[in-house]
Amino acid sequence: MALKRVSIFGATGSIGQNTLDLIGRDPERFQVDTLTGGHQVDHLAEDAKKYGARMVVTAYDDHYQALKSALSDTDIQVGAGASAMKEAASRPVDMVMSAIVGAAGLEPGLTAMNAGADLLLANKESMVAAGALTRTTAQKNNVALLPVDSEHSGVFQALQGERRDTIERVILTASGGAFRDYTLEEMQSVTPEQACDHPTWAMGQRITVDSASMFNKALEVIEAKELFDLAPEQIEVLVHRQSLVHALVEFQDAGIIAHVGPHDMRHAIGYALYGGNRANLPLERLDFTKIARLDFAAPDLKKYPSVDLAYQVMRAGGLMGAAFNAAKEKALDAFLARQIGFLQMSEVVKSVIDTLSVTDHGFEDALNLEHILGMDALGRDMAERVCATQK
Ligand code: NDP
Ligand code: MG
Repeated sequence: MALKRVSIFGATGSIGQNTLDLIGRDPERFQVDTLTGGHQVDHLAEDAKKYGARMVVTAYDDHYQALKSALSDTDIQVGAGASAMKEAASRPVDMVMSAIVGAAGLEPGLTAMNAGADLLLANKESMVAAGALTRTTAQKNNVALLPVDSEHSGVFQALQGERRDTIERVILTASGGAFRDYTLEEMQSVTPEQACDHPTWAMGQRITVDSASMFNKALEVIEAKELFDLAPEQIEVLVHRQSLVHALVEFQDAGIIAHVGPHDMRHAIGYALYGGNRANLPLERLDFTKIARLDFAAPDLKKYPSVDLAYQVMRAGGLMGAAFNAAKEKALDAFLARQIGFLQMSEVVKSVIDTLSVTDHGFEDALNLEHILGMDALGRDMAERVCATQK
């Protein structure tokens, strides 16, 4: 088996660390090429040494000196800022784990595919903001685009050997997040600290809060449409407290294939890292006699209006996904900064989407990166202005 050169964008985050854990267990198969991070410079330097990286990059120019001196006793190449990120993404490797959080993950992923790397996609924002461009970039370069989000990995696995035109329905499950047992009234006054406490999954801060608001599921519905070329009405969401069934695919013969597994991201990461093959992974095995029950319920759309917004965005099509994701990122920033309340996040995003639905914003082409970035900037700007008016 030839050694696979792997780069990890967002190596210091939750997905990045889980990826390194698996890679570190199979040195005969994987060679780390480049690790990128943001603010956690010491952590990045430590991992670069531990995993034998050739290059490390922090996304922020300001951190260059700190990273450089942390690696002064090595010959690891060090970079910082946008141009170094681009250089890192252009290196000839076999695969790249796209695990930066937010729309910041889009361009490195596109660059990596254009340089010939397979893309292991945790960064769902790429599919929401630029689904068509991401997909066509993979096709054009004849590289694989492998889902890492657990639900999408589950769908991908359920679809192996199946004909796409026999799919009737895809169901994505959601844990319900930190406030699943709260009333709508109780949700009005929740704090960022409370929203960061996920009942089943251990993840980065932003996706954890997005799980509590179910904006995460809204993003995932759009991600599923874009990855699997589904119609919006083919995608459904079910709240499933145990987070063991990750996705269900129903076919035209009424058969359903469900993907079931432990809530450990290393399963989905491993499936992608091994190119859609089943490696022997060091994960907990489920004991159904202990689990005893699996619960499913429709989401309460009054508590989680974000889910409805995903369908509005998909119906609008074009570049609305880019605006939606950008507005969501801004609303999340404002909630984390205690500028707006938890439930106001979806009000802010809805206001941006509603306004854009009836105005001519001048951006047309969903395959044009400039237009996508223009829409992203507009969405952020509008959301910021709406946040400023919220009380
Ligand atoms: P984390 O917040 O844990 O990690 C994010 C990573 O991105 C860190 O390495 C961080 O660096 C880096 N980063 C943050 N901002 C920037 C930026 N502007 N430019 C470059 N790098 C940046 O996130 P997760 O690992 O939880 O999530 C990563 C992606 O995977 C997200 O898109 C998320 O939606 C998706 N995902 C995550 C899952 C999970 O279980 N965690 C499950 C499914 C999908 P630093 O920390 O050094 O500042
Ligand atoms: Mg998910």
